[in-house]
This record gives sequence, structure tokens and C-alpha cells, in this order.
Amino acid sequence: MPSLPQGTNTDLAGQAPFSPDMRNVFLEIEDKRLLPPPPLQKVPQTKRDMSKFCQYQKDHRQDTDDCRHLKIEIEKLIQRG
Ligand SMILES: [Zn+2]
Repeated sequence: MPSLPQGTNTDLAGQAPFSPDMRNVFLEIEDKRLLPPPPLQKVPQTKRDMSKFCQYQKDHRQDTDDCRHLKIEIEKLIQRG
């Protein structure tokens, strides 16, 4: 078995690590009106978690940091530059 040199994380280079503070990014791009309106989704009362709040969808289902819709939109904006 060939031995790989230690410390060369070539795998990681191909990934786009995305972990900025979603909340802050959201506030910034919302201010610039760069975000499309969030998809309207009816969330059953039982699925709501009042300890969480999504600032993008304005719903109590997940935190802003966990909102995949917001994450997708932010990633689009990043790709666009
Ligand atoms: Zn959301």
C-alpha cells in the first residue's frame, strides 16, 4: 500500500466550506435587498419550535443559521460575486 504524505489535505481544497455567520450575512444582504422573497410554506403548528426563529422565512421552524433556503440564496449570491 503506498503511503500518502502527511499533511496534504487535497480533499479539503475542493470543498467550499460555508460557515460564515448566516445571521450577519442575512442582515447584510437583506439590507441591500438582494434576497428574493422566501418560499411560502405552511408549517403545521406541531412542527413549530418556538425556541427557534428563521429571520428569512419569519417562521418558527428553524433558526436563521439552519435555514437551508437562506443558505441556498446566500450561496447563489456568493457565486455571483
Ligand atoms: Zn428558514
